[in-house]
Amino acid sequence: MKLDVDVLRYLSKDDFRVLTAVELGMRNHEIVPIELIDRIARLKHGGTYKVLKNLLKHKLLHHDSSKYDGFRLTYLGYDFLAIKTMVNKGVFVAVGRQIGVGKESDIFEVATEDGTVLAMKLHRLGRVSFRAVKSKRDYLRHRSSYNWLYLSRLAALKEFAFMKALETHGFPVPQAIEHNRHCVIMSLVQGYPFVQVKQLQNPETVFETIIGIIIRLAEHGLIHCDFNEFNIMIDDEEKITVIDFPQMVSVSHRNAKMYFDRDVECIFKFFRKRFNMSFQESIDDNDDSDKGKNEAGKLCFSSIDKSAGVLDKELAASGFSKKDDEDIQRFIECEVETDTNSDSEEDVDLASNLNEADDLNVDSLHLSEQDC
Ligand code: ADP
Ligand code: MG
Repeated sequence: MKLDVDVLRYLSKDDFRVLTAVELGMRNHEIVPIELIDRIARLKHGGTYKVLKNLLKHKLLHHDSSKYDGFRLTYLGYDFLAIKTMVNKGVFVAVGRQIGVGKESDIFEVATEDGTVLAMKLHRLGRVSFRAVKSKRDYLRHRSSYNWLYLSRLAALKEFAFMKALETHGFPVPQAIEHNRHCVIMSLVQGYPFVQVKQLQNPETVFETIIGIIIRLAEHGLIHCDFNEFNIMIDDEEKITVIDFPQMVSVSHRNAKMYFDRDVECIFKFFRKRFNMSFQESIDDNDDSDKGKNEAGKLCFSSIDKSAGVLDKELAASGFSKKDDEDIQRFIECEVETDTNSDSEEDVDLASNLNEADDLNVDSLHLSEQDC
């Protein structure tokens, strides 16, 4: 995705006020009626329609007149709001090249005032499901979790909270620097995705380090759930950094053992195929259920001492609540299950039940100076 931030320079205060008004309106409307945008933005000298046309020209908004005249944010519009807020806070001053494209994220380099280069991850969670349910329901009586803004923001918040907590406990993860909306700023990892590496000087050491991280995570009450060669970075000294945390679960999750085994198996499989490593099968007799599933018999989920506990305190300190986690987890699981049938009514119903407590009265919305 192209991110032409030059446009940022040409946007006025009124442009951002109207863009923010659309964002607020989207808490209750998929397409925000023009009159509502005008009412929320309350431009001093009027002219909301002209501003909307300008934002549309720069592809920051999408116009929809199928049921009534209205607008919604595009990903680019949401990106701009987050970037503008971060720039205003002095987190970074420039956006550079794109360094990664994930299924549900885009990653760019950004530079701080003193020239330090950081990584900016823009979450795009809900992209697929949003499309699937788009035509089915417009006015969102309840602020619904299938709203991609909400989901992407939750993913960013979760990623930030976990990265910070893991860093505090000495895990090799990027340094979490800041988050806003669907955007996370973190240190730039020097090195390459492990998937690109064809040879290692010390494959055994690297293997042990990686498996050691999976075990230590479980001891701290956590499972990565997407622990594979795409989410491990390695540098020239063969130092490992783990990335990508929105899907992490607690060891008390009902499918914890399956997720844990899957993470372990991914690593075994990769080392076997890529580095021709062979592993002795030794199944832990104490745990029949692990038989044949996990090549590393000693790596039985049930035999890991998880008494170090979930990093609850650290996560709560980052503003990430249990309810946020339930919402995002339900979405991720729902998305996996409905991957082949993403247009089902079931999908819509599950999504619309989520987060009902957060219903918002649109008429009381108005912008403060801080919002823009
Ligand atoms: P996704 O959730 O979409 O898979 P990831 O967090 O795995 O996103 O990032 C996708 C890619 O972006 C990674 O494989 C890596 O190449 C790059 N990347 C992500 N974070 C960083 C970082 N902090 N430093 C350097 N590269 C990164
Ligand atoms: Mg990834």
